[in-house]
Amino acid sequence: MSKNKANYMSVGKVWLVGAGPGDVGLMTLRSREVLENADCVVYDRLVGEGVLALIPGKAERVDVGKSGGHHPIPQREIEAILLDRAMAGKRVVRLKGGDPFLFGRGGEEAEALQAAGIPFEIVPGVTSAIAVPAYAGIPVTHRGLSSALHVITAHSEKGELPNLDFEALARAKGETLVFLMGVKNTGALCQRLMDAGMDSHTPAAVIERGTTARQRRVTGELGSLKALMEERKITPPAILVIGPVASLAKKLDWRTYLPLSGVRVAVTRPRERAGRLSRMLRDTGAEVLEFPCITTEVLSGTLPSLAGFDWVGFTSVTGVQALFTRLAREKRDIRELGAAHIAAIGPATAEALRLCGLRVDFLPEVYDGAHLAGGLAERGGRMLLLRAEKGSPELTDILRERGADFSEVPLYRSCYVKAPLPDDLDMAVFTSASTVRGFAACAPEGGFAAVKAVCIGVQTARAAEEAGFKKIFTAASATLLDLVDAAMAARGV
Ligand code: SAH
Repeated sequence: MSKNKANYMSVGKVWLVGAGPGDVGLMTLRSREVLENADCVVYDRLVGEGVLALIPGKAERVDVGKSGGHHPIPQREIEAILLDRAMAGKRVVRLKGGDPFLFGRGGEEAEALQAAGIPFEIVPGVTSAIAVPAYAGIPVTHRGLSSALHVITAHSEKGELPNLDFEALARAKGETLVFLMGVKNTGALCQRLMDAGMDSHTPAAVIERGTTARQRRVTGELGSLKALMEERKITPPAILVIGPVASLAKKLDWRTYLPLSGVRVAVTRPRERAGRLSRMLRDTGAEVLEFPCITTEVLSGTLPSLAGFDWVGFTSVTGVQALFTRLAREKRDIRELGAAHIAAIGPATAEALRLCGLRVDFLPEVYDGAHLAGGLAERGGRMLLLRAEKGSPELTDILRERGADFSEVPLYRSCYVKAPLPDDLDMAVFTSASTVRGFAACAPEGGFAAVKAVCIGVQTARAAEEAGFKKIFTAASATLLDLVDAAMAARGV
């Protein structure tokens, strides 16, 4: 492939990568791996926002998105960008919607790279041609209904219907026709198929923005499809499915039965802690965009001695991790705590402690600062609180009021990641007051009035109110399960 072997490491490389049809969960493992290691990402309009969120912060982003009506970046120019960055030794990811070789011009780009002697790899993707019908409950083949699949473009280079053998397509009974890029030409397409002898009652469906929260489906027949699409104002990107399998959509439309289907939600906690919550929300059908609006920074400096306390209190998983990081940094270890009892604010913190070999002696009944403070005050003795810089004052206020003997050591600080908010959000899920503030810092004009704030507890909800959220929902208890329940409750409001 590489003509000049000496170039192999020095000229960089290009990966032609399929990003899948929109839903970030439909990326392949390989595509994610190469994306996370990219120096430069050149992407199209159809690449899902959740996928774009995985582009490393330090990577150069080049948007060559082509949207109908707007001037596309000419193909030759895109190729020139790829060559230029690769020649500079960069790891370049060329990210395309669906699969890079299916109506994606991946082949042309591969030819240009090959001609220039630039090493390249192809990372196939989940194509919209199959995945979008699947997300609308349409299997593209089905025993007894359809035994072949044709994937066809409905858009020639000039923008008209391409010159296809419509007679052959019309004869294809018991087969499935999937048309891409077909919204503009639907009327002409259906008419040509009927003129060529296809039954006007052949089941047909259109799926717009498939696999995203904004997915919409129209089902009808070949003869009525265009009118139905106009009535529903279907716009690109959309996929047309013509053939008997289209009739299965009503029965198998699994996605609309999920409780959070059609809901676009931002998960705001730091990415390394978002995984489980994101998965739980996806399991309920939400489109999840990971939008970490805070990061944590372990503070430097010497930790005071941890010896001589009766109780040591932890209020977050990050705090537990930061303690061990700082002890290791100073070549100290946890045995300094001696026989101190351990308190944790909630089960996730308790679990983090357990993984570090520390059993928790006190977990409040309600997982918040007030109840942790109340429990500690009742137990008495010398207390050490290990938590974030500028932690919520509630915990310390109560301890002070109750005359407790405590000291506090800040272990880490939360920093805001100021990035543009994702468009068109329905909800944002917050697991701490600092994530609320971080989110609000991303839209200083308060441009999130329509976004519902789903909060893990009362302190977080209070922060949401202060930040200017109008619709606030609070979990019954500070657990991820109850948080997801709160998101479901928020849905209907
Ligand atoms: N390489 C892509 C297809 C590119 S052509 C793939 O394999 O999926 C662009 C066309 O794909 C759009 O006009 C539309 O017909 C279809 N398409 C891509 N993503 C889509 C989506 N999420 N929903 C509906 N149609 C989609």
